[in-house]
Amino acid sequence: MRPAVAPGNARQIGLVKMPAKKTPSAKPAPNSPRGERARKIAAAEPVSPKKRPGKTVKPLAPERIAAILDALAKTYPGVVCALNHRSAWELTVATILSAQCTDVRVNLVTPALFKAFPTPKAMAAASLPELEELIRTTGFFRNKAKSIKGAAKVVVEQFGGKVPQTMEELLQLPGVARKTANVVLGSWFKIAVGVVVDTHVMRLSRRLELTTQTAPEKVEKDLMQIIPQDRWIDFSHELIHHGRQICIARKPRCADCTLEKLCNSSDKTWTSH
Ligand code: SF4
Repeated sequence: MRPAVAPGNARQIGLVKMPAKKTPSAKPAPNSPRGERARKIAAAEPVSPKKRPGKTVKPLAPERIAAILDALAKTYPGVVCALNHRSAWELTVATILSAQCTDVRVNLVTPALFKAFPTPKAMAAASLPELEELIRTTGFFRNKAKSIKGAAKVVVEQFGGKVPQTMEELLQLPGVARKTANVVLGSWFKIAVGVVVDTHVMRLSRRLELTTQTAPEKVEKDLMQIIPQDRWIDFSHELIHHGRQICIARKPRCADCTLEKLCNSSDKTWTSH
């Protein structure tokens, strides 16, 4: 005999026929951005990356690099670092906290952190449990607490309480590698000594065939050779924004991409050539 089933449970285990859910129409309005994109996608013939005419242009040809830089600058005019900060010190701490964490999350955490410990001296004197509690939601909080306290100590003891302005000196701070040092030097001091290579810059540089390397230092070296130095700072900001909004890791939005005509990546989800 079939056991009695409470009405709520019957729905969960499928004994009651549920009315079909109303789903929004899959057909976008013809004049909407979605409609435009759908039209483009429907009209395009899938083309093997090997057969694309764009493939005949050398990836590192100066005119192609210039076109990429031009398109990025036009798409993201006046782009700035997404981490909120009021000083070189705050940017250093925020960048350390941003490892394996979103900038949005870091921006939620830093106001209380800098209210409790406003200067490198105050942070150097903080206890690790206090710091851990304040930065817990950024992940890897024990290591990050050690890094920011250690960095504060070095800034106070070796650099008179001020964040240094050279790559060599910045690399002496615990938790600071080339990426963080490039962020601080570029975004705060406006000194271009390298290119910030985070996960977005790495992925996009490879998709755009600007490098074939996978180690951040080697990618940075390649980019420094092909991008003019006066574009290093903005270029990395632009690529980071493009990586977050359009050229996303899993499913790049190629039909919306202003670099699409210049891109021959095998990861493309749509192509015009
Ligand atoms: S076309 Fe696609 S893969 Fe190429 S850069 Fe644009 S979004 Fe990324």
